[in-house]
Amino acid sequence: MVVAQVQPPEMADTTRFLEEVSARTAGVSRLEMCIQCGTCGGSCPSADDMDHTPRMLFAMIRAGMKDEALRSNTPWMCVSCYHCVVRCPQGVHIADVMYTLKGMAEDAKSYRDKTPPHFASVFVGQVETFGRSWELGLTARHYLRHFILRLPRMTPMAIGLFMRGRIGIMPNRIHQRKQLHAILSKAEELEKVS
Ligand code: SF4
Ligand code: SF4
Repeated sequence: MVVAQVQPPEMADTTRFLEEVSARTAGVSRLEMCIQCGTCGGSCPSADDMDHTPRMLFAMIRAGMKDEALRSNTPWMCVSCYHCVVRCPQGVHIADVMYTLKGMAEDAKSYRDKTPPHFASVFVGQVETFGRSWELGLTARHYLRHFILRLPRMTPMAIGLFMRGRIGIMPNRIHQRKQLHAILSKAEELEKVS
């Protein structure tokens, strides 16, 4: 008699989230290779602002703590510097996993603070429209919506950046935006298929 191997429900739940995150990550995540050494958090310039260090977040993913992981602000604080990626002894694609978690949190509308997702959506909208970010428009919109009382404090810095030619009053559009839109459409198409 052949006895089927039945996975206990709690075990299935635990591995499902890890598999989901890995499947949604571009290329391979290598998340299952994490040895919890903490090198990533120790290398991260944003660690002080994160709810959980990357190491803790990956432990939560492996424990199947989906709601907690998606509500963490950690992926939103990641600035994609890739410092952790070059130092990880296990070759975990940490920054790519952060992008995956942001996408999953957006889909589930699962976040503690709407500020970072809103900032990201305005940034992406600008890139789609102009082909690059428009720093003045991005920060003005962000501060008007979320931190209006802090706006006066930001103004001298904005003027200084403008005087040094670091930011523009008007958006600077790239040439060949049609090509960019074709690339974005293709990416959307591929995402739907995968
Ligand atoms: S550096 Fe790599 S192996 Fe170490 S905790 Fe971070 S992801 Fe895991
Ligand atoms: S890529 Fe993100 S998680 Fe990694 S060190 Fe940079 S900010 Fe931190």
